[in-house]
Amino acid sequence: MNGLDPEGGCTGNCGPQSGGTSACTAPAVPLPSAGPFQPDGEGPARMAADIKRLMAAFDAVGIASRERFDDAPEQFHPRHLMPGFKSAIVFGQKWEEASKETAGGRFHIIAENVNAIDAATRHLTARGFGVLPVSARTKEVSLPRMGERAGLGEISGVNSLVFEEYGLAVKLGALLTDAPLRPDPLATGVCLKCWACSDACPVAKGPFQLERSECKSCGKCVEACPLTRIKVTEGQHD
Ligand code: SF4
Ligand code: SF4
Repeated sequence: MNGLDPEGGCTGNCGPQSGGTSACTAPAVPLPSAGPFQPDGEGPARMAADIKRLMAAFDAVGIASRERFDDAPEQFHPRHLMPGFKSAIVFGQKWEEASKETAGGRFHIIAENVNAIDAATRHLTARGFGVLPVSARTKEVSLPRMGERAGLGEISGVNSLVFEEYGLAVKLGALLTDAPLRPDPLATGVCLKCWACSDACPVAKGPFQLERSECKSCGKCVEACPLTRIKVTEGQHD
């Protein structure tokens, strides 16, 4: 466990000392100066750009507007978590290949990720907007579906999110906010539709024939996807 849930959200245990109670060591991300927010002017575009700059420690950040969820299954609609949300900020961190040499680097990445989430949250709340973090443990929503609607990638054959640059080797998290932010364009043509992921999965009965709750976290789909460019080690999915 590296401080992010299997698909995403920070668990906050990034402290360099055992127990994870000490503060992050990565330098805090400086906040842009506060200015009046203009919901009908350049505000949504400027705020979206500010959020992306503050979260640059992540490998990918995308934004979905509330309207993008109009066709979401009723039980997974983010409004159940935050009734007045207007935007979903979805972020991804690619997996690092496991090795002794990269262990220290991973802790640094985690600390930077935690600071980035904190900076974006403070930036929004300082302007009067609400923010709600979403992690892979938040069962009321689907992070891969949120990421798809935020333009980060496409739904894979095992109903996870496939990225053009990283394949399936990405952890996801999200922030819901009632701030109106300019959404990103949807991603197209990412998945090769080769179904190597669902073929390798011991649970899936075919492409898209898998409930995420059935996932055994074995990582076989990640390893099989031709877009995944790292060597996946057993247990790395945990
Ligand atoms: S991690 Fe394993 S069980 Fe989960 S979708 Fe991938 S192959 Fe299937
Ligand atoms: S293995 Fe093939 S079908 Fe599955 S996500 Fe990767 S490219 Fe898409």
